[in-house]
Amino acid sequence: MALLEVQNVSFSYDKLNKVIKNVCLSVEEGEYIAVIGHNGSGKSTLAKLFNGLQKPDEGEVIVDGFSVHDKKSEFEIRKRVGVVFQNPDNQLVASIVEDDVAFGPENLGVPRKEIGERINFALSAVGMEKFRHATPTRLSGGQKQRIAIAGVLALKPKILVLDESTAMLDPKGRKEVLDVVNKLNKEQKVTVIAITHYMEEVIDADRVIVINDGEIALSGTPREIFAQKDVIKGYGLELPFSAYIAEKLKQKGVSLKSDILDQTELAEALCALK
Ligand code: ADP
Repeated sequence: MALLEVQNVSFSYDKLNKVIKNVCLSVEEGEYIAVIGHNGSGKSTLAKLFNGLQKPDEGEVIVDGFSVHDKKSEFEIRKRVGVVFQNPDNQLVASIVEDDVAFGPENLGVPRKEIGERINFALSAVGMEKFRHATPTRLSGGQKQRIAIAGVLALKPKILVLDESTAMLDPKGRKEVLDVVNKLNKEQKVTVIAITHYMEEVIDADRVIVINDGEIALSGTPREIFAQKDVIKGYGLELPFSAYIAEKLKQKGVSLKSDILDQTELAEALCALK
């Protein structure tokens, strides 16, 4: 069984209008999944269904073998699925960084000695060891969001769900957070599900899921997804910058290996211009 199994899930807030409709999704351990879709398509709701914050009206969500319908599993699921939200200011609870990171494990009843180890691990994973005794409110947006991620990592989750977690950050802060998340995925094998509207953040994912009107409209590798330019635009989504460049180069007659270019391919294609 996959680490996260979403089976025929439907959900509504008012018991009338379904905002998630018959969604099926299997996420394997270590995958990096990007979820995209226009505003109101149901992405955040899906994130809340992943960690049991909302329960499906129909269907099943199983995390590492634990069903969200089973009251006794709540605790196990919360430990396994950490969610980082958009606004870091709403996620930081303490006036000193280390207390903030300790908050989650303390609530889970982790022994004092182990909490110290977890703070060390989490702060070092996000590159914020030096800020252990700092005041969160005095940090930059990117630093605050890295502390929010450390708070989630201190619970040792198997799945990290990022719900537009870079949306309020400047480009530098966004890069800091993305670098940390990529490293966690590659080195610690943390499974990542990143909801984003920055198409550039999607390109390196293993798999992209496009949500439209509460349904999975498309699923595939970034190259497979962005090759369907008109379909993507039809869902109200932008193409990544590199796909626009590829489109323009093709119009100029430059032959390309792919519709999505990495930096080297882009440089080669530009050099091929006469
Ligand atoms: P997205 O994250 O893609 O912007 P959401 O999951 O936030 O989409 O919202 C999906 C739909 O559910 C929207 O129509 C939104 O208005 C509605 N919705 C979201 N949160 C609530 C809520 N707490 N109560 C009622 N409706 C909600």
